[in-house]
Amino acid sequence: MDNKLSSYFCRICGHKQSEAPWGTDGRTPTFDYCPCCGVEFGYQDCNLKAVRAFRENWLKKGAVWSEPEKLIKPWNLAEQLKNIPYEFK
Ligand SMILES: [Zn+2]
Repeated sequence: MDNKLSSYFCRICGHKQSEAPWGTDGRTPTFDYCPCCGVEFGYQDCNLKAVRAFRENWLKKGAVWSEPEKLIKPWNLAEQLKNIPYEFK
């Protein structure tokens, strides 16, 4: 996966966003919220340590969608997690 494409996926949960959460340059966060894991881009996903802590906590709580009305079924968590940009795994 090239960098331009991977920039559209949430660093926490791998959900594909309509806009690149950190901009296509990876340095301009939108400060939007991921409808899946609920992270605020540019805040709790600002570094690897924060990303891992947020993800662990989200998974521990059952990987609940923050905005369940945006969930498109069938949904496969394991498949989605594969989309996490490799530098944030
Ligand atoms: Zn997410």
